[in-house]
Amino acid sequence: MIQQIVFGIVSVAALGFAGWQFLRIRKNIMLGQPEPTLGDKGQRWKNVLLIALGQGKMFNRWVPGVMHLFIYVAFLITQIELIEIFIDGFGGGHRFFAPILGGFYTFVISFIEGISVLAFVGTIIFLSRRNLLKLPRFQSAEMKGWPFRDGNLILIFEILLLIGIFSMNGADTVLQSMNAEHYPDTGKLLVSSWFGPAVFGNLDLGTLHVIERFGWWLHLIMVFVFLNYLPKSKHLHLILAFPNTWYASLKPRGEMENMPVIMNEVKSMMGLSVEGGEQMPIEEVLPDFGANDITGLSWKTLLEAYTCTECGRCTSVCPASITGKKLSPRKIMMDIRDRTEEVAVRIESGNMEYAKDKEKPLSKDNFDDGKSLFDYISKEEIHACTTCNACVEACPVLIKPVDPILELRRYEILTLSEGPSDWLPLFNSIENGGSAWAMNVERDAWRK
Ligand code: SF4
Ligand code: SF4
Repeated sequence: MIQQIVFGIVSVAALGFAGWQFLRIRKNIMLGQPEPTLGDKGQRWKNVLLIALGQGKMFNRWVPGVMHLFIYVAFLITQIELIEIFIDGFGGGHRFFAPILGGFYTFVISFIEGISVLAFVGTIIFLSRRNLLKLPRFQSAEMKGWPFRDGNLILIFEILLLIGIFSMNGADTVLQSMNAEHYPDTGKLLVSSWFGPAVFGNLDLGTLHVIERFGWWLHLIMVFVFLNYLPKSKHLHLILAFPNTWYASLKPRGEMENMPVIMNEVKSMMGLSVEGGEQMPIEEVLPDFGANDITGLSWKTLLEAYTCTECGRCTSVCPASITGKKLSPRKIMMDIRDRTEEVAVRIESGNMEYAKDKEKPLSKDNFDDGKSLFDYISKEEIHACTTCNACVEACPVLIKPVDPILELRRYEILTLSEGPSDWLPLFNSIENGGSAWAMNVERDAWRK
């Protein structure tokens, strides 16, 4: 009975705290600007199934792809065992499904054990790649400190989870062979049937019981730790990859989001017809174009920032990064997430010091802490982007780092009227000659 009470308290506390953290992340994402979700739902489901669930884009690099698949499938499959742990925990029984499912139970638990061994191998390889082989994409500046520790920590959690599973099943197998009470027959499990006797075979009944309970609780606690750690970690992608692939734009990857007001202004400047559509407002104070902070970015970009796995595939193919420029699309997404957290904490604090208008309540529309996204992302970084979209093509979870880069650039050039001086001749040429090159001819003549 005491175990059931402890189980209930731990479960409610862990699930409640995790739920609160996930709701907070949702609230943070909604600090962004509204953006409609357009396009075919069938294609969206296909993206979710092939890219989020099926890990379709991970296999572009097959070694990490396969290892990642082992860990991912093990993570999903072990949750089946968790259902039984919950039933046993609240009901006070042991291995609720074993007598009901018989041989099928043996098959399921054996499958979990098999995939767990593969996940263990994958985890060791991933730890080695990070810490021994020191792959360059895990060693760059933005990966120093917490992001590097985060990657290691989650792999250590995975190992502890596997220790829990095999301690529980291994000791259980030996207890069954001793005909101990309350230990129903699980059949011959794939790994524990030899691992249990080999490691725990010489131990007495009392010690085996303690080891079995230790494994059971360790399994449960690690799942709860994992669940509560996810919102603070890049591993949030385990959950957010699903909504992110659902909401991802269905337009061709290279297509940039246009600014209708500016497009129409340019069209009329070039003498082209502007039928309907948005026009430049005739107000004395023009609105801001682009974004200089997370509250000006789309909520989808903020969702992408929280979904980023920090894998660095984008940075490894970015021509600006490869040629030594100060740009890493991965860092752009990490900076957006960090700034979102900062803004959210400050708004939550209710401190009126952060209110733009002190007479109104503090909110995302009435917020000014004297900082902006430019305090995280330098202009040198956003100028270095060639808008080639190689990062977008490489991302395994359909993130578009180029979108916020464009928004920041638009803010700098259209709202602040600033920008690199060597871009000015280009702008002047477009404005005066209708082409990017300084040719003093009519556009139509120039085209021929
Ligand atoms: S679009 Fe920009 S950030 Fe992305 S790969 Fe190309 S240059 Fe790099
Ligand atoms: S944006 Fe995509 S490719 Fe780049 S680090 Fe994040 S998840 Fe990886």
